[in-house]
Order: sequence, then structure tokens, then C-alpha cells
Amino acid sequence: MEKRKRIVVVGGSAAGPKAAAKARRIDNKAEVIIMQKDADLSMASCGYPYYIGGFFNDRNMLICTPTGVVRNPQFYLNAKDIDARVNTEVLAIDPNGHIVSFRNTVTGETGEMTYDKLIIATGSVPRMPPVPGIGLSGITTLQSMKDADFLRKVKDEGKIKKAVVIGGGLIGIETCEALQLAGVEITVVELLPQLLTFLDWELAKLVENHVKSKGANVITENGIAGFLGENGKLTAVKLQNGAELPCELAVVAIGVRPNVKLAQETGLKIGETGGILVNEYMQTSDPDIYAVGDCVETMNRITGRKVLAPYGDLANLQGRVAGENAASENCVTFPGTIQTGICKVFDYAAGSTGLSESAAKKLGYEDIITVINSSPDKPRFMQGKLLVTKLVADKKTGRILGTQCVGPGNVSKQIAQWAMAIQGHLTVEDIVNSDLPYAPPFSLAIDHFIATAHIMQNKIKGRLKGISCLEVRRKMANNEKPFVLDVREPIEFEKMRLGIGETLISLGALRKRFNELPEDREKEIICFCQISLRAYEAALVLEDEGWKNIKVMEGGVAAWPYPREK
Ligand SMILES: Cc1cc2nc3c(=O)[nH]c(=O)nc-3n(C[C@H](O)[C@H](O)[C@H](O)COP(=O)(O)OP(=O)(O)OC[C@H]3O[C@@H](n4cnc5c(N)ncnc54)[C@H](O)[C@@H]3O)c2cc1C
Repeated sequence: MEKRKRIVVVGGSAAGPKAAAKARRIDNKAEVIIMQKDADLSMASCGYPYYIGGFFNDRNMLICTPTGVVRNPQFYLNAKDIDARVNTEVLAIDPNGHIVSFRNTVTGETGEMTYDKLIIATGSVPRMPPVPGIGLSGITTLQSMKDADFLRKVKDEGKIKKAVVIGGGLIGIETCEALQLAGVEITVVELLPQLLTFLDWELAKLVENHVKSKGANVITENGIAGFLGENGKLTAVKLQNGAELPCELAVVAIGVRPNVKLAQETGLKIGETGGILVNEYMQTSDPDIYAVGDCVETMNRITGRKVLAPYGDLANLQGRVAGENAASENCVTFPGTIQTGICKVFDYAAGSTGLSESAAKKLGYEDIITVINSSPDKPRFMQGKLLVTKLVADKKTGRILGTQCVGPGNVSKQIAQWAMAIQGHLTVEDIVNSDLPYAPPFSLAIDHFIATAHIMQNKIKGRLKGISCLEVRRKMANNEKPFVLDVREPIEFEKMRLGIGETLISLGALRKRFNELPEDREKEIICFCQISLRAYEAALVLEDEGWKNIKVMEGGVAAWPYPREK
């Protein structure tokens, strides 16, 4: 009888089960085994914050198929002929003998198993701050199902009144929302000057303003010095500036690092970023061992550099590639990442793909051009919601390098479009005439995506002289005294205004009120309105009248990240 190939997968959450299922589909005869340390399989960890926040209440929703069948060992055996062993930790790999040693974490029983191909999918582990008091009860992370169960209990019991979330990244912000919805008073503490570092500062500030508007406290540029407690229980978080935040719960969310212990002990090569080194087939330095998901490092497709990209979508895509290669010899490749991500922030979403301006500059891209577009995702009569997009492109070629988008509108659609533009190496000129689906319930006739490219095209061609809110603010602080012109209607001005010394002349009245503008035609005039569309029209009118130094504040009031007078 022909010997069946045995494929053993270590790790049973996202990447592991995907690899196992793909291997099974490719080779129906292979023996496929998953060894999973946790008690659950195929957990949708990305759903934990929504379970905790009460968006849904059935825990099984986190581990079931789209048709509602719980993915337990029985399901894997019956539906997929996969031997999925839970509570089974792989302790060691002998790459020469092709043997894994494992232990049942409940019974303590140990065993060994040979493999033909092995797939490591051990995920990541949360980073913990090396500060006093870290062992107190009431301090948790949000990484495992156990953590999710613990935090859901916090919601259900309703006893905890105050919590501190340490870290303003994706998981920290989602946890903030979840606990806020669970009725807990939240403070987010972030060491850096901004939340969500995949965004540039000015967009991150819009997100921060939104978080604060929902009643959560945000403290930036302040790290944690220690945890204080009584009788082994957390009572406060102490910050580096000496302040103490009383709380009964602290969630540490300062990032994750690849879980490479097993791979390292096996002698597999670890890459420069600390993740397991793999080639395009997801194969490690041992040709019979593949590795996938959060535990590996991957190639950034824009920069060609290795990065850590702990995202659920990549874990699944890589799992698929490794599963196929392990089952049928190397035949498919994984090309890398452009680091696309999105997170929900109360009524906003914040997403990004490719490089932010700050990341591009750090990497040495000098000849870049950026633009900010604020506009709705749909017509007003279909309850259009605001999107604020920042586009980063190569100045010479117009090639798209990155995009960030925040706001209550459909951010996901925008980021998805830009991600494909980056992957397809598209330029601004390629996008300005995109043929996208249009009907009022879904978009504007010129979608926000295309409108953003139009603004960039105008800027590249010198028709629009844009200026960022940051630059305007800097000029005002330096007492450069540009003439700042708000071209909105008086009623809008009454409701909301920046209060930076601006003059209000609405676009409709502008042609009759040139006498109120500076006589000096060289004087710098900065126009803005709600989203700076009327401001662009105003700039064209003024240029036509002979003013030579007209700029438009990109994104308008909607993108102004600083406090306003009103
Ligand atoms: C709260 C939260 C929200 C998130 N939200 C998003 C999101 O919205 N979008 C997104 O793209 N990503 C998100 N992520 C990230 C995403 O969940 C991860 O990128 C993804 O789960 C990685 O999959 P993985 O299989 O590589 O690792 P994991 O999901 O970490 O699974 C690894 C598994 O391996 C097991 N294991 C480890 N060592 C051993 C061993 N020696 N033997 C046996 N088993 C072992 C572990 O117990 C674990 O179950 C989120 C993560 C969290 C925690």
C-alpha cells in the first residue's frame, strides 16, 4: 500500500487550520494533523473586542463556520478528515528524525509523532512592559480566548468601574471601545505622541478627538512606570510623569512579538525582524518545515524590506500557500504584504495601506507628494458620511505609495481600492478616470477614491496649491500672518469656526467683496471651507483677479485636528 504523506500543523487558530484545510483539499489521501495548545480551535480573535463589547453574545460565534457549525475536533474529523487535537502543546521538533514531541496540557500525557512535512503556526505573544506590579490580579492582555472570556465577564458582572488600556494601537483602541460600551470608564495611555501609528499624526489626531468625544480619556506621550496594588489586586496605574490613575482593571496592548521559541529551539533561522525566516513558498531554512502567520517575517512589497505584519488576513493567505506547498511540493508563492489594515473606532473607522508620509520619510523616500481630501462617501440625500483621506504618491511618477482614511464613512471600501492600486503599481493618472460602480446608495458619481486622485492630479499639475492644516497652524504660530479666508456661509461660521484670525467671505459673495482682501497681490492668502471644495473655487477666482499667492487648506475644517474656537 502507498504510504500516506503525514502533514503536521503546530497551532490551531488562524493560519494553522487554514494550512491544514488547504493541504487536505490538495491531497485527499494525506494524513493531516493539527496540534493546538489552546482548548479552542479556529478562534476569530479579531472578533474578541465585539464579543466583549456586546455586539453579539454567543461565544460560539467566535469559533463557528459561516453556517453556524462549531469548529471542534469532531467537526474537523467529520467534515475535513483532519485530526485536530486540542490542549496539545508541541514541546520540541527533531528536524533530523522528522519527529514532534507533544504534551496534553490537561492530562499531562506526552507523545511523539513523525511527520513528512511540518507547518509551524504558533502566532505571536503580547509584549509586556518590564515594570513593577505586573503580576497583580486585574492586569490582562487581549490575545487569547481566555482573555476574551475574562473581559466579557467584566462586562457581564458590571462590577468594574474604571480601567486603563495601555497602548493606543489597533487592539488598544478596539478594547477601549469594547470596555466603554461595557459601561467601564476608560483611559487610554500611549507612550508616543499619537494613537494608531499606522496613520500620520494629523489623521490620528482626528481619531483621538473622536475617541474623546465618546467619553474616553486619552493620554499621549506618557508611558507606564508601574502598577500599584493592595492585597495582590490592582488599584492604580502609575505613569512616567508620576500621575496615578486609579483603576481595577488594566489591559496591556503595547503590541505583539512573533512566537518563535519552538522554531528557534529547532535551529530554524530567525530573520532580522525577529520573525521566522521564510522564502516565497513559506518554507523555513529546513525544506520540510513551513511557517505561517504572526510568527514569520514577511516582505513589504513596496520597499522590498522584511517586516512583521501580524494581521489575520495575511495569516489565512499564508496558511493557504503553505498548505498547498506542503501537500504537493512547492508550487504556489506568497508575494508579501503592503500592510493594509483597518480598525473600528466607535462611529469611525481608521484604515491604511502602503506607506504613511512619516513611514515613507523614515525609509528615505524624499520626492513624495501628499494630499488630503475630505468629502462624503455618498450623496447627502442618502445619508453620506464623511471620509478624510490622505494620499501619498511619488512626485515624479505619480505612483501611489500609500493611503490612510478615517471617518464615519465607508473607509473599508476606500482602503480596499487603494490597496489594489498600490499592488497594481498604478499612478494618479491611472486612477483619475477609473470606471467604478455608481448608484446613490453606494457612492457619489465621482467616488471619493477618484476625487482624491483628481485633487492630487491638480496638485501635481500645479493647478491647486494645497497647504496642510499643520503648515497653516505652524505659520500662525510663527506669526507669519497669512490672510486666512473662510469661504463658508455665515450660518456655518456661527455653528463652528477655527478662530485662527480668519476672515469670513462666503464664496457666493466673494466677487463683490474683493475690496476686503489684501491690496498687495503678492500677499499669501489661505482659503478654506468645510471640505475645501468651495475654497478651491475661491482660489481660482482670486488667481483670476491677479492675486498670486493663493493656497487652499487641504481637507478644510473637517480635517482640522486642533482645538477650534467653536
Ligand atoms: C483582539 C485582536 C483583534 C485583532 N483584530 C484584527 C483585525 O481586525 N484584523 C486583522 O487583520 N488582524 C487582527 N488581529 C490579528 C490576528 O488575529 C492575527 O494576525 C492572527 O490571529 C494570527 O494568526 P496565527 O494563526 O498566526 O496566530 P494565532 O491566532 O495567535 O494562533 C496561534 C495558535 O498557536 C497556538 N500555539 C502556540 N504555540 C504552540 C505550540 N507549541 N503547540 C501547539 N500550539 C501552539 C496558540 O495557542 C494559538 O492558538 C487581531 C488580534 C487580536 C488579538
